[in-house]
Amino acid sequence: MDRYQELTEEFHDAADIDHEGTKEDQLLWISMLTEELGELADAVNKDRDEVVAEELADVVIVAFGLARVMDIDLRKEFEAKMEYNMEKSGAKTEGGKVVDDAS
Ligand SMILES: [Mg+2]
Repeated sequence: MDRYQELTEEFHDAADIDHEGTKEDQLLWISMLTEELGELADAVNKDRDEVVAEELADVVIVAFGLARVMDIDLRKEFEAKMEYNMEKSGAKTEGGKVVDDAS
């Protein structure tokens, strides 16, 4: 098992976090992820450089928690998606985002 998934399980067990995998459960974790993204945006917006990395870590931690609740192997999905991303040409939109032109 991936180390991050292992640590996620250890934390969930230690904190007695429920993970039934119901839609309500999944939506709760998605709301937590949204909350953490908001905290990250707030830290960046307010130039609170001392907490930006910690807030980004919170986003990743909750993403791994959500993956557990949804029974998703996040490491595997990350690698598959990055492989797909590497097929993109690198063309960018006017806003600077990479265009999804992978074949
Ligand atoms: Mg946070």
